[in-house]
Amino acid sequence: AIEIRGLHKSFGANEVLRGIDFHVAPGEVVCVIGPSGSGKSTLLRCVNLLEEPSAGSVRVAGVEVTGPDVDIDAVRRGIGMVFQSFNLFPHLTALGNVMIAQRRVLGRGKAEAERVARDNLERVGLADKIDAYPAQLSGGQQQRVAIARALAMGPRVMLFDEPTSALDPELVGDVLGVMRTLAEAGMTMLVVTHEMSFAREVADRVVFMDAGVVVEEGPPSQVVAAPVHERTRAFLSRVL
Ligand code: ATP
Ligand code: MG
Repeated sequence: AIEIRGLHKSFGANEVLRGIDFHVAPGEVVCVIGPSGSGKSTLLRCVNLLEEPSAGSVRVAGVEVTGPDVDIDAVRRGIGMVFQSFNLFPHLTALGNVMIAQRRVLGRGKAEAERVARDNLERVGLADKIDAYPAQLSGGQQQRVAIARALAMGPRVMLFDEPTSALDPELVGDVLGVMRTLAEAGMTMLVVTHEMSFAREVADRVVFMDAGVVVEEGPPSQVVAAPVHERTRAFLSRVL
């Protein structure tokens, strides 16, 4: 469902992505790991065109997102994105936050948007927090609202960029649990994470990036448990 070929991205003279190739098959969970500054966020941002690739191609659900006639809004509607920061509207309840993009972007009526919002808040374990405002929710709960908001749009794929790294340690598990349930339900997921236990247990494949290239890629039993490359080993010895 996501195919990345020969992807390059430069910011001025700084070549951040230096030819990235990999794919995420439908229903697959791929975790991207790697040191700070290796280009992981830039890679995700190229998938939904928050950054324009300098070269190469990205296809999502069969659509070339860098193609000349691409309807970028349509492409983005098919891609759910969850960031480290939750970016909820503080003046809207959990329900309101999950409804608003459905109403504005998809043009759904109020009743339908509310039904879909309730279903997805329930799905992330927040049935009892529907009327709470962000300030009344923990970081983990806020992040789960953000996940529900993305799911409510009916995405074909979900991108996660370090969704738990802003959370207190005791709140990380709830968010990872929701992501695990989503993975088990067959969602196609590309996840940048430092949570090696999640990568080990949930990922179908792990991609280790360093300095803008994919150094090593394979099942977690290989990349995390028995890495071949020295750079992968050095990274893992620092994070494990
Ligand atoms: P981290 O683990 O810290 O999140 P990362 O692997 O996600 O790191 P990126 O955020 O993709 O790394 O950044 C890779 C490089 O690209 C960095 O050197 C960064 O300074 C540069 N970079 C990212 N976005 C921009 C931008 N909009 N303009 C200029 N340089 C950028
Ligand atoms: Mg990043």
